[in-house]
Amino acid sequence: IKTPETKSFEADVARLLHMMVHSVYSDRDVFLRELISNAADACEKLRYEALAQPELAGEAFQPRITLHADKDAKRLVVEDNGIGMTREDMTEALGTIARSGTRAFMERVEAAKAGESAQLVGQFGVGFYSAFMVADRVEVFTRKAGGNEAWHWASDGKGSYEIGEAQPGDAPERGTRVVLHLMDDATSYAERWTLERLVKEQSGHVPVPISLVEKPGEEAKEIADGTALWTKSKSDVKPEEYADFYRGVSGQYDEPALTVHYRAEGRHEYSTLAFVPGSPPFDLFDQDRHGRMKLYVRRVFITDEAELLPRYLRFVRGIVDSADLPLNLSREMIQESPLLGAIRKGVTNRVLGDLGKLAENDPAAYAKVWGNFGTVLKEGIYEDFERREQLLKLARFRTTRSGEDLRSLADYIADMKEGQKAIFFMTGDSRSRLEASPQLEGFSARDVEVLLLTEPIDSFWVLNAPEFEGKPFKSVTQSGADLADIARDNKAADASAETTPEVEAFLAFIKNTLGDAVADVRASDRLTESAVCLVAPENGPDRQFERLLSAAGR
Ligand code: ADP
Ligand code: MG
Repeated sequence: IKTPETKSFEADVARLLHMMVHSVYSDRDVFLRELISNAADACEKLRYEALAQPELAGEAFQPRITLHADKDAKRLVVEDNGIGMTREDMTEALGTIARSGTRAFMERVEAAKAGESAQLVGQFGVGFYSAFMVADRVEVFTRKAGGNEAWHWASDGKGSYEIGEAQPGDAPERGTRVVLHLMDDATSYAERWTLERLVKEQSGHVPVPISLVEKPGEEAKEIADGTALWTKSKSDVKPEEYADFYRGVSGQYDEPALTVHYRAEGRHEYSTLAFVPGSPPFDLFDQDRHGRMKLYVRRVFITDEAELLPRYLRFVRGIVDSADLPLNLSREMIQESPLLGAIRKGVTNRVLGDLGKLAENDPAAYAKVWGNFGTVLKEGIYEDFERREQLLKLARFRTTRSGEDLRSLADYIADMKEGQKAIFFMTGDSRSRLEASPQLEGFSARDVEVLLLTEPIDSFWVLNAPEFEGKPFKSVTQSGADLADIARDNKAADASAETTPEVEAFLAFIKNTLGDAVADVRASDRLTESAVCLVAPENGPDRQFERLLSAAGR
């Protein structure tokens, strides 16, 4: 064995390492995800190479990642039986920065404030070099598939590294062993429960089984089995497995109300496994309205801040696993990638589509979903112009005719009266107050159904949803809510709104008396028992909306 060579890191690596060693990152945990993902990549690469050259992997290749912990020695080893590296591979891979994402990351960190940079590391990791967040010395022993020589790389992360031949017994027969000499404040990374927790949280769905040797000499125990549930076909997954996965991904302990599982092929390849929870998540009405869908790339967890669904679907929990995105996604890429844009669109359409199917096939189950999330879905009616019609189709309402059931707009339209041209609604604080309103008299006399809208958000979406299937929405408190063309059911109560000279004179008298307090005074069809009611101008906000605005001091 020749004396090892000492080499300097490329300037960028030195800068990055300096950041790793000298910054206090709150999210040091991610180093393990990075090393495990490298180990899994190495296994996947070997699997791929062995397609052409089976002798590289040997017969019955069983990819495996093994963690060896040794708390007394303050040491953690991450080992794989994957492709391994040659000396040149190592110099290139562990002495330079090959990843453009890492370079972009560094630029971001250097431009960012202290608090923000810590988050950046947590979200994206910085690959192999993140090992120096927890270790003051890192060694790599490796042997390339199909090669005989074993190599050793070592560094304390301070500007240079050593590279040379490895003692034959120190390297795996094939693959790579990364040895972390843990800092004094990082020895918990050599404890079983920490490692198990991190593997479950970050790498439980890596496509290679992961074992843990808790103490030197002990047997390896499998802590992740290497199958990602979403890669299985639907027919191979039991409801209980879905429910378990749902609980893991949502942190809720109920049953999912809807499971959306599919694989998109074609231009973009990705899998989705998403759930509509059985009960509302605690953060449903948080101001920031963040979603919690997790983004994976080839089964490696990337981030849960990619906002894979629109805000009005923020209650949906689950994962998207892309086959086409690069592993190291910068924040900019996440915001701007057209590929992610296409995925967002696909997943959104699918979730809404499956909600629609549930509504059709199991109205009772859907009514529950609507009860939990309807308020949030309504945000989409004014936020997602493209899918407004689809969202209106999903919406359910209490109406003057619904009793304790819910009515859809399709139900409403099917029961419209002859001559009725609009979908009538009334907004207010409570159903009972709405039902007692004189505004409804003319509508009930004609048996015209009215949507009873009692949530603050209702006043917003009705303003922005001019119509559904060609029928405009009209507030019963707006003067344009015209009933003249609809025949009354109750002929006896009929009283014409035609303006005779006497009526004209009376209207003029009232106008005069009230002066500027009102914009207009008109004869109306809308009343049968009450003598007068207030209405809002046809093109202005309706009465309830005016009240909301004045309550908000506007
Ligand atoms: P990335 O994984 O995005 O390429 P990393 O910094 O995590 O970036 O790793 C840099 C490179 O080091 C990898 O691309 C790979 O070539 C090499 N490498 C790291 N770990 C291993 C390993 N366990 N087996 C083989 N090669 C590895
Ligand atoms: Mg990596």
